Amino acid sequence: MIPRRYERIKQVLAQRQPDLTVLMEDVHKPHNLSAIMRTCDAVGIFAVHAVNRYSETPTYSQVAQGSEKWVKLHSYPEIKTAIKHLQQQQYRVYAAHLSEIAIDYREVDYTLPTAILLGTEKWGVTDEAADLVDGHIIIPMQGMVQSLNVSVANAVVLFEAQRQRLQAGFYDQVRLTPEIYQQTAFEWGYPEIAAMYYRQGKTYPQLGEQGEILPS
Ligand code: SAM
Repeated sequence: MIPRRYERIKQVLAQRQPDLTVLMEDVHKPHNLSAIMRTCDAVGIFAVHAVNRYSETPTYSQVAQGSEKWVKLHSYPEIKTAIKHLQQQQYRVYAAHLSEIAIDYREVDYTLPTAILLGTEKWGVTDEAADLVDGHIIIPMQGMVQSLNVSVANAVVLFEAQRQRLQAGFYDQVRLTPEIYQQTAFEWGYPEIAAMYYRQGKTYPQLGEQGEILPS
């Protein structure tokens, strides 16, 4: 890895937000999935979560521009498991959902650990998920059409979260644990070697100042 690349990796990892995430409920169209991943990367999301009854392996379109490589994806068999898992990790899960009880998305404090639940393109958030979450948020609409495209809704909410976190100085300090930071720097810098170490169940070697692999 050339030193300039390592600098870039460090710069991006230093701004990753481990306590801000997105949970997708059956969002299955490749262009939507890709646009969501790209926005997540842009605001510094480290990992996203998904439940997908349509296919096990997500397919990305050109829209992602490779951003799926920089944002981890955790999959779950059912929405209940995903929501409970996030809540156990102290996330407050908000469904972006056009319901009677939804509050304006700008009223939420996104500096607290937050997960945004996005619903499927056609049917929105399921009743089961809507009941399990900690609250509903809505992006006010003044047009003839009732809802936004799911990836657009994601971007609107996440850039509000980014605004609040910028103001709170969350991008000025490294927020990943040193272990996750080191591990991810290695995976991003040396993906093939990392995959080999992973297959062999071995821990990654340390990286030097310039991003070079140090002998163990
Ligand atoms: N017919 C669906 C419904 O009634 O929910 C519309 C689904 S919309 C195309 C896809 C997803 O985008 C929704 O489930 C929601 O997560 C998000 N979304 C779209 N517009 C939104 C808005 N104005 N406020 C909050 N979320 C929105």
